[in-house]
Amino acid sequence: MASVTLSGIAKTYEDRSGRHLAVHPFDLAIGDGEFVVLVGPSGCGKTTTLRMIAGLESISAGELKIGDRVVTDLPPKERDVAMVFQNYALYPHMTVYENLAFALRLRGASRADIDRQVREAAGLLGLEALLERKPRQLSGGERQRVALGRALVRHPQVFLFDEPLSNLDAKLRVQMRREIARLHAELRATMIYVTHDQVEAMTLGERIVVLHAGRVQQVAPPRMLYEKPENTFVASFIGSPAMNLVRGELADGQDPCFRAAGGAFSVALPAQWRDALGGRPKAGVVLGVRPEQVLVGAEHGSDGARVHCRVDLVELLGGEVLIHASREEHEITARIAAGPVPRLGEEITLTIPPAATHLFDADTGKRLLPNRQ
Ligand code: ATP
Repeated sequence: MASVTLSGIAKTYEDRSGRHLAVHPFDLAIGDGEFVVLVGPSGCGKTTTLRMIAGLESISAGELKIGDRVVTDLPPKERDVAMVFQNYALYPHMTVYENLAFALRLRGASRADIDRQVREAAGLLGLEALLERKPRQLSGGERQRVALGRALVRHPQVFLFDEPLSNLDAKLRVQMRREIARLHAELRATMIYVTHDQVEAMTLGERIVVLHAGRVQQVAPPRMLYEKPENTFVASFIGSPAMNLVRGELADGQDPCFRAAGGAFSVALPAQWRDALGGRPKAGVVLGVRPEQVLVGAEHGSDGARVHCRVDLVELLGGEVLIHASREEHEITARIAAGPVPRLGEEITLTIPPAATHLFDADTGKRLLPNRQ
């Protein structure tokens, strides 16, 4: 296994309208044995980044190292990486056994060696009973496991995954996610995984790289991303439903206080933020609060801001309920445990505890203050 070091890596594409930076220069040091997930919406540059690491896409600027070796200009086969694709890329005319054995045969491994490695990978992935089948005789999940197995038998320095679970139904995705997590725990291999699904990113990644429009927004472990998003993009991309973001300004006065645009409501901010906020302009801030931290009702302690809202939509999800409410132009979602729920159009009070708030700059989107200091 090996570390992967990206230094100033960037990708420029050229077309008739000119040159486009699809991936802006960035640095990232991935540790030996680490599981890193690249996540972001469609077109953010995650696949391009992975393909640059694989050697399937040229690197426009910067340097790439795998272990101590600079591989920036090396072809894929000299990088010792194995890639697992979304579309499996299995050979349809070969059996599972032959698909697994293929790369080893190319390397000229002995018959006995191939057999041992194929059976080892099949064992790890629960494919023993399927070795004589052709890909068309397999379910989507089984095919994806064969694709994983093909990467496994190569014992690469680094595993690269390009949305490997997108073609599977929701239940299989959860099952395969568990298998990949288990494989990582067993092999302690370096894994780099691309997905647009933030739940997949949060459950698999030891560290997550959030990309947006070709730029890295934040690199952090899942919990840190969730608790301290660096900007409004990360705040709204990570977590479902998204963090509530309310535009407004800082109110005049002795203690820090946020006032929603139009004066619809105010939220007292933690007193210890006073100094940090003292110097900044009052206008142009965004208040953030996670839906699960919004309380329904006014009886919860005395320090929370009470916001009188109208219920626009109630979503019953079984174990929990999402209540979408609004006050003038501001929309707030609360996530609560299943129980009695308000009716559509009902007036309710939501409570926002100061300690649960995040504050961002409205122009740059950057985080101004942590929710806990
Ligand atoms: P998706 O989830 O849709 O695959 P992505 O985040 O993986 O998206 P990339 O495929 O890395 O995004 O593409 C990043 C940007 O680079 C996009 O704006 C895309 O249009 C552009 N791009 C990708 N390949 C090329 C190419 N060969 N020529 C020109 N532009 C390209």
